[in-house]
Amino acid sequence: MKKIAYGKKLICMTILMLCGLLMAGHDVMVAKTNIEDEAYVYTTVFPDGYTPHTNPKVVYLTFDDGPTKYTPEVLRILKEHDVLATFFVVGNTQHTHVMGDIVAQGHAIGLHSYSHDFGQIYSSMDAFFADFEKIGDIVFEQTGVRTDIMRFPGGSSTKKSNAKTIMPQLKDEIASRGFQFFDWNCDSRDKMGVKTASVALDKIKSGSEDVGDIIIVLMHDTEKITVQYLPGVIKHFKALGYDFLPLCIASPAVHHGW
Ligand SMILES: [Zn+2]
Repeated sequence: MKKIAYGKKLICMTILMLCGLLMAGHDVMVAKTNIEDEAYVYTTVFPDGYTPHTNPKVVYLTFDDGPTKYTPEVLRILKEHDVLATFFVVGNTQHTHVMGDIVAQGHAIGLHSYSHDFGQIYSSMDAFFADFEKIGDIVFEQTGVRTDIMRFPGGSSTKKSNAKTIMPQLKDEIASRGFQFFDWNCDSRDKMGVKTASVALDKIKSGSEDVGDIIIVLMHDTEKITVQYLPGVIKHFKALGYDFLPLCIASPAVHHGW
């Protein structure tokens, strides 16, 4: 017992000496002296590395159907405002090289579809996963990332083509392949007839009012107006005290029902 106590004391003293050296010249008090409080010492000295995310208000900005010629501008705006987002990408685009920039800037990348052809991908399980594997391989080639997040084209509640018939099986298979899928609870309607940036921004503001602390916003980096309304979206949620996070498999999953 004595030996263990001595060992603890020695480790504790070493930690405190190191902390003292690191914090020399700074007005930081490291008052704890117990080895049991080692974690406390570290969280005090290195708050950026150890402070957990505690703000319950989180907005996840998500962009579907890119990359397109507008994606670099979307990335520039996100960087300018220092926020991270998520891109659910497709494969039939001339801009797949932009996927590398998405990941390099710290954003999340998720699978959406290779073809985004509802009639084709929802015609059968085999057809869906042939397409799904194709976009997975492209993302890996372009980014080196084997992502584990995805969004169904049209969302999991889509009634297009044969989707409703095979969706229960699709969800099971997606999960068994280690993926989480994400729908949304706030829609910009930027690809659904909304023609101006100000209307899309209003849709997001009004559509997120009663959603709660966790908001997943659906946008498309295929539209010119997205580039125009995005700064307003960021300013809006910042003013309301939201943090901006990229989605990951552990994120709160917003799933549609029928
Ligand atoms: Zn889509």
